[in-house]
Amino acid sequence: PVQLAEVVNDAVEIARGELESRAAKEGLSLSLEVDVPRLPLVESSSADLRCVFLNLLRNARDAMPHGGTVRVRGRRLSGQAVITVEDEGTGIPEENLRSIFQPFFTTKGRHGTGLGLSMAHDVVSRARGTLVAANRPEGGAIFTLTFPLLPGKL
Ligand code: ADP
Ligand code: MG
Repeated sequence: PVQLAEVVNDAVEIARGELESRAAKEGLSLSLEVDVPRLPLVESSSADLRCVFLNLLRNARDAMPHGGTVRVRGRRLSGQAVITVEDEGTGIPEENLRSIFQPFFTTKGRHGTGLGLSMAHDVVSRARGTLVAANRPEGGAIFTLTFPLLPGKL
């Protein structure tokens, strides 16, 4: 069992370093806002979950070539932990929404593996959670993860 907030914060620290170095190099403004409170434990491996969040954060960065803000929020909702990762990037074309979780689907040519989201989906499913992609009305993408909380565990 792992503490979601700790895993999210670990991934955020790694992504923050990557974002800041790219922002400095390219003169962009890239920022990361995080509000994930302590949540009860979920049943997963922390290494796998860290990869999931790191992949989502890297995808958000890739979708914002001109900079922007990535927001990560966590909350507790009727026995579940809900985490959202939102960006201000290009968004996901409607026709791709169904394909992005398939292994090897990428729009990044030779720079992409197309494995990040399929891996993320597997890890989240194994924790009996869900991972859903959508576009924000304001532009950009939003990924919503839900995990059942382990009853009685803090
Ligand atoms: P990769 O990053 O190697 O392309 P992923 O499985 O992580 O593979 O993502 C698959 C595809 O989903 C990406 O190539 C991109 O087209 C789309 N995608 C993922 N995240 C985002 C995002 N935050 N904004 C826009 N498109 C995205
Ligand atoms: Mg990726």
